Amino acid sequence: MKVGLAQIKTGENAFAFSSTSDAWLRELAQRLSLQGIQIPGTIEIQMQLTKLEPDYYLKGALQFEVEQACGRCAETFRMPIAHTFELGLAHVVGTGKKAAEASLSEESEELDISYFEGPEIDFGPIVEEQILLSLPYTAICRTDCKGICQTCGSDLNQGNCGCPKYNPVNAFAMLAQLKNEEL
Ligand SMILES: [Zn+2]
Ligand SMILES: [Zn+2]
Repeated sequence: MKVGLAQIKTGENAFAFSSTSDAWLRELAQRLSLQGIQIPGTIEIQMQLTKLEPDYYLKGALQFEVEQACGRCAETFRMPIAHTFELGLAHVVGTGKKAAEASLSEESEELDISYFEGPEIDFGPIVEEQILLSLPYTAICRTDCKGICQTCGSDLNQGNCGCPKYNPVNAFAMLAQLKNEEL
């Protein structure tokens, strides 16, 4: 996923990638699978790169699915992810980071800036970071997932198991009572 600077025209340039067999992507997939997150399908990547002389403005969109176990009911489920991002890309040549920062901050004060050196832009590390940012904090198969019964372990989405409801207030009251009896 590298694009040579010579290939980039003045103005807008569109690039599309459908997950590649790049080493970084395989490594990322491996790292995520250790955390219980699988990416079963392809990752669709769209980029719009604008040449600003001397720097670049990047708008990107990612689309893929993650597969993981629900934090409540432990069922494996798939979730579609659609993520967009904007980034300033500063070419570090001689002038250094400060100059690049100054030229890009004219475009937008709040733009995150990423730096690159050399004659090409490698989208790999950029996309990797954005994939990580796009992952959900909590894995819940659906907002109303009832989870598993604390007593018998059955999946409460399949129906009520009939166990009495676990009530932490009562449990503490019982503990307090036991303690009093011991004394
Ligand atoms: Zn669930
Ligand atoms: Zn139960």
